[in-house]
Order: sequence, then structure tokens, then C-alpha cells
Amino acid sequence: MWVVKVGGHETVNLEAVLDDLAAWAHEGQRWILVHGISAQADALGHALGHPPRHVISVSGRTSRYTDARTIEILMMAYGAFNARIVAGLRRRGVDAIGLRGIDGGVVQARRKGVLKIRENGRVLILRGDHSGKIERLRTGLLHLLIQQGLYPVIVPLGITPDGTVVNIDGDRVAALLAVAMRASGLILLTGAPGLLRNYPDESTRVAVLSVDALEQAMAWAQGRMRTKLEAAGEALRGGVGCVVLADGRIERPVYRALAGEGTRIVARSA
Ligand code: ADP
Repeated sequence: MWVVKVGGHETVNLEAVLDDLAAWAHEGQRWILVHGISAQADALGHALGHPPRHVISVSGRTSRYTDARTIEILMMAYGAFNARIVAGLRRRGVDAIGLRGIDGGVVQARRKGVLKIRENGRVLILRGDHSGKIERLRTGLLHLLIQQGLYPVIVPLGITPDGTVVNIDGDRVAALLAVAMRASGLILLTGAPGLLRNYPDESTRVAVLSVDALEQAMAWAQGRMRTKLEAAGEALRGGVGCVVLADGRIERPVYRALAGEGTRIVARSA
């Protein structure tokens, strides 16, 4: 079993991803899909007069400031996009089921509440943030679905003990799900051909990397790529055999990722 995460980047070739996932399922491969929402949520935010606010935390992480209105917008955008994916997979003969991390308490989380950000060289505190950290993944329900032959399509929203919905980074949910489900591998499909040593020069793709070299590789990554490297490290240290960062914009994205076209991060140096 593998976990695949497809980013919400506007350049991602969703139809090609669904074609590959369906073909892979028809070959007998089991997988769980986790999906992002960034571009659709941004567009909906603009349309509803509540544009997104992307911030950089003091630790250098890029995130979305998720106030009460933004979490509503995320729920709407995720609902529509998840339905589109589930319908697309079912059209291709895959017995897909949409599942938000909140359903059945699959993604149990803690709310961060306060965001410490850096803006114009100053540190600011943003309150009322609805983003969260994963506390526990309830995998029993997922095992049940998989035993029934279903293919889960997961929305990375979590739920706190007091029933608050929180936004969680999709790469992290995918990585920890891969660990908890004892997946053989994790594929993160994104808007780049893999990790580039000299971003954005696409001829500088790193083909293979060992988990021990991740910290050094962090120096090449900016923005959301840093989160992906962190998630890769979490998955590998948790026992997942390999993580592939690969291009989600191309035809045959999953098969090409498996064939070694992205950046393959492995537990040990070969
Ligand atoms: P998601 O797939 O989660 O929606 P993104 O596609 O925005 O997120 O995240 C990955 C992005 O990171 C790439 O599209 C690219 O713009 C950026 N990036 C920054 N540094 C690098 C790097 N060294 N190599 C590849 N991509 C990088």
C-alpha cells in the first residue's frame, strides 16, 4: 500500500493523476490519496471577498493564516474539490470514497491558536488561527474501508477534542498516514519536477537523496518545498521505505514518479 498526496497547485494535472491512480488500482495496487486545495481556496477567497493571507512563521515556514472565515472557505473549497476527485475516480472504475480528516475522528488534532510571524522585518502575533497539529491518527476506520475494497480520498482537515475544525498541512497528513498505515512508500506530487539544487533551474533536479542528507538539502529549498522535505523525513524515520517528490504537472505523473523521474528519498544511502 502507498500513500499519494497531490498538491492544490494550479499547475497540477489532476486528470493525469487520476488516470494513473486508476490504472495502478486496476493493477491491484492499494493506495490512499490525500489532496491539497491551495489554488482553489485562494480563488474562492478572492471570489467571496476574503482573499488569502500567506504568512511566514518565525521558524521560516510558509503557511496560510486561517481565521474563522478562512476555515469556512477551506471547508467549501475542499468539499467541492474532493467531490470532483471522487467522481473522477469513480468514472474511471475506482471504488473511491471521500473522507475528511474530521469524519470518524480520523485526524485528531490540537489547535495552534497563535501564529508568530515575521513581516517586514518585525515579529507579529496573529491570534484566532484555525490551523492545527496532528495528535493522533485513527487508522481503524481506514483499514475497514480498505478491507472493503474502497480507495480513500482524504481531505487534510483535523478535529480537536472540543470539536473545532482545523487546517493541517496536507504533506504532513500524508506522511503521518503513511507511517500509521505502514505504507511501503509515499509520493508527493507537486508543481516542480522534484527537489532542485538550484531552484528554479529544472536541470538541477536531485535524483536520489538519503534521509541523512535531508538537513543539508533543506538549504536548497524555499517555501512549501521545505515542508515537503520535513514531511519526507518524518515518513522515512517512521519506517516508510521511500518518499518520492515528483512532478504533478505532467502526463503519467504517478508512473513516472515510480520510474525515478522525481527526487527519490530513501531511508539509507545506497
Ligand atoms: P503543493 O504541492 O503542496 O500545493 P507547491 O507546489 O507550492 O505546494 O510546493 C512546492 C513548491 O516549492 C514548488 O512548486 C516550487 O515552486 C517551490 N520550491 C522552492 N524551492 C524549491 C526547490 N529547491 N526545488 C523545487 N521546488 C522548490
